[in-house]
Amino acid sequence: MADATPDQHVVIVGASLAGTRTAQGLRALGHTGPITLIGAETELPYDRPPLSKTLLSSDWSASAVDEVRLISTAELDQLAVELRLGTAAAGLDTAAKLVRLADGAEVGYDVLVIATGAVARPSPWNPASGVLQLRTLADARAIAERLALKEPVVVVGGGFIGTEIAAAAVAAGCPVVVVDPVPEPMARLVGPEIAGSLVGLHRDNGVTTRFGVGVIGITGVAGALTVELDTGERLPASTAVVGIGSIPATDWLTGSGLTLDNGVVTDGFLRAVGAADVYAIGDVARWPHPGRGQQVRAEHWTNASDQARHVATAIARGTEAAYESTDYVWSDQYDWKVNAVGWRDPRGSSTVIGDLAEGGRVAVVHADAGGAACGVVTVNWVRALNQARRRLMAGEPGATIVEALRQLS
Ligand SMILES: Cc1cc2nc3c(=O)[nH]c(=O)nc-3n(C[C@H](O)[C@H](O)[C@H](O)COP(=O)(O)OP(=O)(O)OC[C@H]3O[C@@H](n4cnc5c(N)ncnc54)[C@H](O)[C@@H]3O)c2cc1C
Repeated sequence: MADATPDQHVVIVGASLAGTRTAQGLRALGHTGPITLIGAETELPYDRPPLSKTLLSSDWSASAVDEVRLISTAELDQLAVELRLGTAAAGLDTAAKLVRLADGAEVGYDVLVIATGAVARPSPWNPASGVLQLRTLADARAIAERLALKEPVVVVGGGFIGTEIAAAAVAAGCPVVVVDPVPEPMARLVGPEIAGSLVGLHRDNGVTTRFGVGVIGITGVAGALTVELDTGERLPASTAVVGIGSIPATDWLTGSGLTLDNGVVTDGFLRAVGAADVYAIGDVARWPHPGRGQQVRAEHWTNASDQARHVATAIARGTEAAYESTDYVWSDQYDWKVNAVGWRDPRGSSTVIGDLAEGGRVAVVHADAGGAACGVVTVNWVRALNQARRRLMAGEPGATIVEALRQLS
């Protein structure tokens, strides 16, 4: 165990979920030294999952926006956290232990926590207006304004975020088409056993899907766009929302000596490889996942929050423990609750319990290529999820988990 260093200056770059939770965790664990939280956005830290869900159909009143805040100014004052918003970090000198900001200022640190998350993968199609993406509060507000027009929307990308936007758009009264080059885009996330039902759910709610079809261009302007497909079809749209994944926000670390490879590469303790006293957490971090036997970068809320707690503990208490992920993610699709814990091994097998027909519920237990249980996906069945999560963490065999879930059904 390393020495606890409660009086050191901890600088956290990235003032969102992982960064804010680290600051809160440090104080809760008795860290007495200065904490500086640096964020590129001008907004007080806020939560991102509601951006593609409740907030798209909210009234954008001050109280609706306040509901998604992760922390208030009063709490920041109480925690004595120095918050520097609207100032992006532009460089890192690990030898001098300095973060350089875009405005020319330099901030020295004893311990640095990198929590710069990810940005939306840029749209390859950029007409003068009308193509939007979703990562920030400002992005969500711009999309909500377009949905309020009730005009046709094309969503490019059939992952969780794209389909949540599609659901919000139909609910707002917009004709919606979702396009994705993959024939069953949600299968990647939830497995083929459930993906078909989710597509059916979207179709039943009035969304048109064009899966297995690529976009080759978007032309025009907001209100009069044309989305060209590789089938030769031309879809008219007032707005196009491009949700084709995200990329880690590591540009500012180029040349810093840290190992950058689809994120900041860390060791099992979440310490950045290539420098002392530097941690990386949340969507930007790529760490060795013990269960999967490979470096993993997760873009999930629970992972960012858990890693923040882990690193806050390591700094405040001087603990050196490997991070163990709970691998949990959720998505709301209309009134369906989709939850996944663990992971799916495409070379493995799966067992389905329950049935989604007639408003039912389902759980799919996944085993890896060696036959060991590695993940469970549920729809509308939180009890099964909680039970499976506990049993997976305890390392129970797949057959035992399947039997336990059958007993619940
Ligand atoms: C629309 C949307 C819906 C989502 N829904 C779900 C969901 O239902 N379930 C789920 O599990 N997960 C969901 N997620 C993912 C979840 O929100 C992320 O995993 C989580 O936000 C990661 O937190 P983070 O702090 O690591 O990164 P981020 O939230 O990306 O925050 C990083 C922060 O760092 C700032 N930053 C970047 N570069 C710099 C720099 N150079 N200097 C200073 N600051 C910088 C950014 O501006 C940002 O504020 C969703 C994400 C989005 C975008």
